[in-house]
Amino acid sequence: SLTSRLQSVFGKLRGKGKVTEDDVNEAMREVRLALLEADVNFKVVKDFIARVKERAIGQEVVKSFTPGMVIIDIVNKELTELMGGTQAKLAKAAKPPTVIMMAGLQGAGKTTASAKLALMLQKGGHKPLLAACDIYRPAAIKQLQVLGGQIGVPVFSLGDKVNPVDIARQALQHAKDEGRDYLIIDTAGRLHIDEALMEELRQIHEAVKPDEVLLVVDAMIGQEAVNVAQSFHEQLELTGIVLTKLDGDTRGGAAISVKAVTGCPIKFVGMGEKIEPLEPFHPDRMASRILGMGDMLSLIEKAQAAIDAEKAAEMERKMRAAEFTFEDFLEQMAQVRKLGPLDQLLEMLPGMGKLKQLKDIQIDERQLARVEAIVKSMTTEEKRNPEILNHSRRKRIAAGSGTTVADVNRLIKQFDDMRRMMKQFSTMMGPKGPKGGKG
Ligand code: GDP
Ligand code: MG
Repeated sequence: SLTSRLQSVFGKLRGKGKVTEDDVNEAMREVRLALLEADVNFKVVKDFIARVKERAIGQEVVKSFTPGMVIIDIVNKELTELMGGTQAKLAKAAKPPTVIMMAGLQGAGKTTASAKLALMLQKGGHKPLLAACDIYRPAAIKQLQVLGGQIGVPVFSLGDKVNPVDIARQALQHAKDEGRDYLIIDTAGRLHIDEALMEELRQIHEAVKPDEVLLVVDAMIGQEAVNVAQSFHEQLELTGIVLTKLDGDTRGGAAISVKAVTGCPIKFVGMGEKIEPLEPFHPDRMASRILGMGDMLSLIEKAQAAIDAEKAAEMERKMRAAEFTFEDFLEQMAQVRKLGPLDQLLEMLPGMGKLKQLKDIQIDERQLARVEAIVKSMTTEEKRNPEILNHSRRKRIAAGSGTTVADVNRLIKQFDDMRRMMKQFSTMMGPKGPKGGKG
């Protein structure tokens, strides 16, 4: 994933006050790969990378961040912005009905999305009408009628012998007559863009003058998303995009491509074959999905909120200088504890899950109190040089702290584990205070 790939870049970026152009270039190579792997169109990736680079170069590093995290943050924000910042709404005709035309390749999910859209509107208190204008695909009309029946939304159809342009025109009249406030026109698709299909869609467009033309795009579509979107946009002046099949395991890079090429907002997403209301599109969630770094982002948020940058930097310096003591250990435990359940935290850190001995470190209130008692029973020398803790010293400490030798042994083992973890943790996070970079 991008997360693990950037990890190595982070390592190199640490300890610098500024992000240099070379640093950014290196990180951008990883971001570019991640986007291409998510099937974002390569031209779109190129533009995107250029924009992020511009923003990242020379950027001051916020105290609580590593430079690598600043870059991730910028990438995420730019990506979110690229996909439309905030959610878009459906247009509404000044005089009902509002006409919505669905377009897209065959199998993209137009018919399913039409029914989902109708259900969404109906749940919002509206009276939609569905129009069956796909007369080519076998059983396409029947499919829409079945879906309409399931959700209790009427379907206007004239069978498959009437021209789709006429069906659309008459459906509009029917909607007016019946007082339906939304007309959703389900159209035919082709496996590939072809002139006859486009001409028919143009004529339907001309006949009903839709308020919305939604391009339905299968999220699994790859590099050709750009060509598809471009062709439809040229012919129909799209007003929005519906991204379907997001319930699959696709990264959904098509979302970026399509948005970038048409400039049209992604208005809704479809999440399954079952007819449920279309869901609004969340650019921020999509950005995390495409980059495969949802976990990384939530970790950054948590860390920002909980880790005292100055203390962490000092701790890291001590680690490096091998000055890390039991007193630091106590304090560090309290710090890490603020991040939440440790096992959950560890899962979020790339590579950390592999340290299975860390499963033994469970930090709860009671244990923290016991740790405190044990550490306080140590002499200053013992706290600073854990190596001298032989059996008789351990026995004395156990007695002094009201614990057992086994408790003391366990703590010393945990201390060693913590040292190891600190090393990894600081490689990842390494917040640098003002004194940073000298250690
Ligand atoms: P159309 O040719 O564009 O009208 O596409 P359809 O609506 O007929 O959908 C094609 C196939 O994709 C059907 O089998 C649908 O059940 C399925 N489908 C549509 N939307 C989704 C979705 O969001 N998730 C999943 N998993 N399948 C979908
Ligand atoms: Mg269909």
